[in-house]
Amino acid sequence: MQELTHYIDGARVNGTSGRFADVYNPATGEVQAKVPLANAAELDHAVQIAAKAQPAWAATNPQRRARVMMKFVALLHRDMDKLAEALSREHGKTLPDAAGDVQRGLEVVEYCIGAPELLKGEFTDGAGPGIDMYSMRQPLGVSAGITPFNFPAMIPMWMFAPAIVCGNAFILKPSERDPSVPLMLAELLEEAGLPKGILQVVNGDKDAVDAILDHDVIQSVGFVGSTPIAEYIYGRGCSNGKRVQCFGGAKNHMIIMPDADMDQAADALIGAGYGAAGERCMAISVAVPVGDATADALIEKLKPRIDALKVGPYTAGKDVDYGPVVTAAAKANILKLIESGVEQGADLVVDGRDFSLQGYEDGFFVGPHLFDRVTKDMDIYQKEIFGPVLSVVRAKDYEEALGLAMDHEMGNGTAIYTRDGDAARDFANRVNVGMIGINVPIPVPLAYHTFGGWKKSVFGDLNQHGPDAFRFYTRTKTVTSRWPSGIKEGGEFNFKPMD
Ligand code: NAD
Repeated sequence: MQELTHYIDGARVNGTSGRFADVYNPATGEVQAKVPLANAAELDHAVQIAAKAQPAWAATNPQRRARVMMKFVALLHRDMDKLAEALSREHGKTLPDAAGDVQRGLEVVEYCIGAPELLKGEFTDGAGPGIDMYSMRQPLGVSAGITPFNFPAMIPMWMFAPAIVCGNAFILKPSERDPSVPLMLAELLEEAGLPKGILQVVNGDKDAVDAILDHDVIQSVGFVGSTPIAEYIYGRGCSNGKRVQCFGGAKNHMIIMPDADMDQAADALIGAGYGAAGERCMAISVAVPVGDATADALIEKLKPRIDALKVGPYTAGKDVDYGPVVTAAAKANILKLIESGVEQGADLVVDGRDFSLQGYEDGFFVGPHLFDRVTKDMDIYQKEIFGPVLSVVRAKDYEEALGLAMDHEMGNGTAIYTRDGDAARDFANRVNVGMIGINVPIPVPLAYHTFGGWKKSVFGDLNQHGPDAFRFYTRTKTVTSRWPSGIKEGGEFNFKPMD
């Protein structure tokens, strides 16, 4: 059995707490490794190393820090296949999807290469008589990040790349479900020239998280994961005086207007609803066709597409649309919610409950499901399922459809499919959700914009990546300076005529 490690002070280091978690291959259901779960002393050790290493890194000029990121990008490309394979083996997603996970992280690293420009301060010449005023962005010191299982490459990079390029040291506490890729990323960043101790990986569970939240030296905490944990981390981190940003769960609605191209809408829903087995915070889990005719047409288009979905292990390469979910517990939770949908009266139009894959009977595969006539009071509507389950909620008109997206407590992403610019524009302006797609099902903003939801999908003020990340990982210091005049006239070197 492989024993994974932490990554401390530039080396893979065994855990000392004596506690471990199992890391599965979700396709086979086998335990393939165990990951150490750090205690507070191990976390403290990493923090002390980070605090010692950080001042010299902060004093390294931004252009040199950016060059480390440049080299890191090249190494990510070099090792793309290796990273994708390690990621798929622990997460279960397909190889192309795993490469996409690395790629969307890499794009934020590319953005961070612009640090010399992004960290440039502000300057006012002559703010008063003889007075200049300037603001600079200084690193916070030691920052920490706690990340979810579903993007084990992308989300760590979204956090540590801006934190580090801003001059901070960073401690990453990745998901204990798929910790191998974060360890590989730390090694690659050091190969790119990052000094030891600036990026460290401390594996663990709640114990390590609580140690992060309570540690005096850690200045900021970033979190991505489920909403209850996001709320907990935000509360405890803020009350300990830290800067905290937490991104939580989702329930993303896609409105389908009667004038939409139904084939396009159905194709979009297949990818956005079932891709990565629905384990994406930007997955579409609720389709809202406007009018019964639209709903009937949509379901007719969806059914054959769902029947054609290929579910299998990542080792089958490109011949698979989606893989298993991450753990047996995740699978059990999804199946329980599906049962509740049936019991509460939703119409299970595509029933994947008896799905089984020959040779992979112990894998955590869940067949695709489609519910029709879902209503607001049902658990499958209110809760995040995080599985390959799409719910259709029929709306009689546009206002009702908009109201559904507005009234749901989650507000990560949403989309509208229509040919009507007026409806699209009205939707984008009025809906209380953070990321909007117009004929785009998964509107994940690119690296140079910011990523973040509204409502219970977020706790904190600033978004991830883009200019907000540079604000989150720096403090502004503003200097007002006046140099008394007269000095330049202080010495008398000129021959002065006598009066
Ligand atoms: P999770 O909340 O179970 O775990 C996230 C992290 O929190 C992990 O590192 C885990 O070790 C830690 N953790 C778990 N329980 C804890 C506890 N009781 N106390 C302290 N720390 C704890 O989430 P997950 O299952 O890994 O990820 C899926 C969730 O993440 C979904 O809800 C999904 O919507 C959300 N997500 C959100 C975004 C976003 O940007 N909004 C992006 C990706 C995933």
